[in-house]
Amino acid sequence: MKIGLVQSALEAYRDSHPKKGFMIFQALLASACIIPMGIWRFTIGEYPQGIFDLVLSSVFVLIAYIGSKDHYFHLVSRIFAVTYTIGVVIAIQYTGIIGLFWSYAATVAVFFAARRWEAVLVAFIIYLACTQAVWSLADPQLLFTYSACFMLVTFFCFNFSSRLLADHTRLSQEALQDALTGLGNRRSLDDHINKVANTDDPPSVAYSLIMFDIDHFKLINDTYGHTTGDLVLARLAELIQEQVPPDVKLYRYGGEEFLILTPTALDDATQLAEHLRQQVEQSALIRERHLPITISLGVAQKQPGTDYRSWLKDVDDALYQAKTTGRNRVCTGN
Ligand code: GH3
Ligand code: MG
Ligand code: MG
Repeated sequence: MKIGLVQSALEAYRDSHPKKGFMIFQALLASACIIPMGIWRFTIGEYPQGIFDLVLSSVFVLIAYIGSKDHYFHLVSRIFAVTYTIGVVIAIQYTGIIGLFWSYAATVAVFFAARRWEAVLVAFIIYLACTQAVWSLADPQLLFTYSACFMLVTFFCFNFSSRLLADHTRLSQEALQDALTGLGNRRSLDDHINKVANTDDPPSVAYSLIMFDIDHFKLINDTYGHTTGDLVLARLAELIQEQVPPDVKLYRYGGEEFLILTPTALDDATQLAEHLRQQVEQSALIRERHLPITISLGVAQKQPGTDYRSWLKDVDDALYQAKTTGRNRVCTGN
């Protein structure tokens, strides 16, 4: 069972769910550390403590197992935090002041399991429970040193956790965004359209793709330079974004090609494509240079039973037709 759980943890790391992977490892590690202690207690005749250790170790294996199921991850991470707190308090009851050391490990672990502010709350509960448990045993200097160290550990964990969260949010956003235009990139496009294409929508919901490409863009680059080319791409993205309704998604497909996903049937999508074509033709994207810019567009509706690839091929064929029949026009694929 443990081998299977280690595999789940490794898969969680690979699928960029490190918190889940870490939680499973943590639980297994805690279990593996407690088992020898439990066995040792049996050998020296401390049966109640031995039984407690073995039960606690089994609880950790169970937590790792349930936590490996996505659906229960948040619930289990909270149970995990509470289990650590109870474990530390019981350890202090049995071992006295020396049990305080466990509160540091528990606090760090709680920050990996629970959300930041929940973890602060749990750390505070651990601290109160620990100081209360050793109050009559410890001298003031020890209590003061313990308190200062505990506060620092909690503060560092919180800081580290906040930075990790900020980095994770930023990197996830960047991974899905095109840096030049700020639009969704190929990865977010694939994620989104795969979902739409693989869902058997009720017949009332129709989806269409519009693919467009700047006409003779190479000439713009060659004549005015790459910087102007980049500016054209950014301004075009801005213009199109302004013209499409909020439920219509716009992506940079690659180079000077863009893709629009619209929850409409072919006729409405073709109308939108024609509107966009006219807007681009009429707008002076680079006013300073009086650069005439046009786009060619292909439109294709999602056909029942077809997958993302064939839908994309339909719209690509339509765009190719628009290019080969004179550019600055809209062609439909089905
Ligand atoms: P067509 O009308 O057939 O589409 O001709 P085209 O010149 O637009 O197409 P082609 O595929 O020959 O050239 C596309 C150019 O787009 C070539 C490439 O250097 C340029 N390009 C791709 N990505 C970028 C980018 O991010 N910035 C700039 N400035 N140019 C880019
Ligand atoms: Mg082009
Ligand atoms: Mg192209």
